[in-house]
This record gives sequence, structure tokens and C-alpha cells, in this order.
Amino acid sequence: MKEINQKEMGTLYIVATPIGNLEDITLRAIKVLKEVDLIAAEDTRHTLKLLNHLEISKPLMSYHRHNEDVKTDILIKELKQGKQIALVSDAGTPGICDPGEEVIKKCIGEEIPIVPIPGACAMINALICSGLATKEFVFIGFLPLNKKNRKEKLEEIKNTTKTMILYEAPHKLETTLKDLKEIIGNRKIVLARELTKIHEEYIRENIDVLIEKAKELKGEFVLIIEGADKKEENDLLKLSLQEHYAYYEKKGINKKEIIKQIAKDRNVSKNEIYQKFINTDEIK
Ligand code: SAM
Repeated sequence: MKEINQKEMGTLYIVATPIGNLEDITLRAIKVLKEVDLIAAEDTRHTLKLLNHLEISKPLMSYHRHNEDVKTDILIKELKQGKQIALVSDAGTPGICDPGEEVIKKCIGEEIPIVPIPGACAMINALICSGLATKEFVFIGFLPLNKKNRKEKLEEIKNTTKTMILYEAPHKLETTLKDLKEIIGNRKIVLARELTKIHEEYIRENIDVLIEKAKELKGEFVLIIEGADKKEENDLLKLSLQEHYAYYEKKGINKKEIIKQIAKDRNVSKNEIYQKFINTDEIK
């Protein structure tokens, strides 16, 4: 039986493709790629390599971040005319830090069927092999590039007790680790490197050690970050101000951030904490 539906309206298939190892593609994904009329791809040259490997020949259309608006309208039109279309990204699952969201939303609005074809996704595979808690997690994707927005995002997540997952480009790894250290402190991180490829590796260290190593590390990374210790956070309120300060100082956080954090923990203003410190000789 054919995978493709034969209704008048076409279907948009969201097809996951490998994140390194070309064998990580499902039988169903191959079947769909063979049967659709058109494949919308983030980078057509990249997808062509995969299609050649699978011995599939299909019309390709580029669909990436910079032409999403225009191409979404074209895809919707084609789907309404009954075309069966597969959407793929360069690697892994479309829509996960990759184009897809726009056209999926539009399809829902136009009542065009959408069908996921599951497969590789870097964050899930990094998480399951991290050894950190998998029961609850927060996927952050890429941190904002803008300094202020990035800081706000890190502030937002620093007290979560859930495991956190970040994507990062190789050349930005060191900067991101330093930003993490400054705001969330010297937490345990699992760097999942080059998943499904020859040099696949899991580096389980605290942030300080990873900062030291960052320059030598090459390839693609997912950062799995241990959540904050809930018990520890509750216990903070039982500490004296000096002890509270020392707790964050040990994590390597700078003075300004410590004061901000203490104020937040104690639900008082930063100024109140500053005033107390001005009158305390022990903290200068
Ligand atoms: N859609 C993809 C997915 O399903 O995982 C993610 C695409 S996003 C543009 C690319 C980021 O995913 C990389 O910067 C890296 O953080 C992560 N990534 C992709 N492939 C990876 C791999 N083989 N090993 C480690 N991280 C990978």
C-alpha cells in the first residue's frame, strides 16, 4: 500500500533526515521521499547528496530561513492543487532550530494535512546518552546572539531544576561556556560531540574544565546542562548573608551577579542587599 494519501488536497510530510550517519533514515522516510511530487529542502545541494545516496531523483525546491515567507505561499498553493510534498532540513528534524514552523502553521490554518516522519534529532540523542535526568527537560536551542537577550534567557533558565539542552555552533562554544559560567555558575555539562559520526564523543565535565578544553574541540555540539539543585536552592534561605554570598562565590560568579542572585533568592531589592553589604566588612 502506498504511504501517500490520495485525497484531493496534498499532504506535507515533515521528514527527518540523518544528522551525520547516512544510515540514520527510516524505511518510511525513504518511501515518502520516493513517492512525493516535490521535496522542499533547506539547502538543495546538501539534500541532493542524500538523495543520490538513496538513489532517489525528485524535483527540489529551496526552503530556508531567508525565503520562508515567499516559499511558504508557493508550497501552500502546490499542496492545495494536490501535490504531495516532503519538507526536509540539512540535518535532523525540520522545525527544530531549522525551517518548518512557518509552513506548518500555514498548513494548519488552511486545513492541509501534515504528517511527521520521525527520525534523527540531535537534542534527543544527546539527552538520552548524557546520563543526566531525562524525566523533565527544557530545550533552549541556540541562545540569542544579542547580548541583552542572551543574558535574559540565561537568567530565565538558571534556577530551573530541569535538564537544559542547548545547540551551539563550534566557533562559539567557548564564548557560550563563559556566558553560562557567569550566570548559572560552574555547573556540570555533558558535551555531546559529533553525534552518529566517526568522532562521536560525550565529554562529561564542569563548565570550568570545558572552558579550558573548548579551543581544542572541533565539530558539532549539543550541550546538556544539569538542572539546579532544588534542595540546595531552598537551603540557601537558611544561610546568613555572608554564607549566601560565599555559596555563589564558590561557583565562580562575579560580585554583581551574586548580589543580583541573592536579592532574587530572598525576594528583596538589589539595593537592599547592596546596602547590607556596604555595612559588612567581610564582603568587599
Ligand atoms: N534540526 C536539527 C535537529 O533535529 O537536531 C538541528 C539543526 S541546528 C541548525 C544545528 C545544530 O544541531 C548544531 O549547531 C548542533 O548544535 C546540533 N547538531 C546537529 N547535528 C549534530 C551532531 N551530529 N552532533 C552534535 N550536534 C549536532
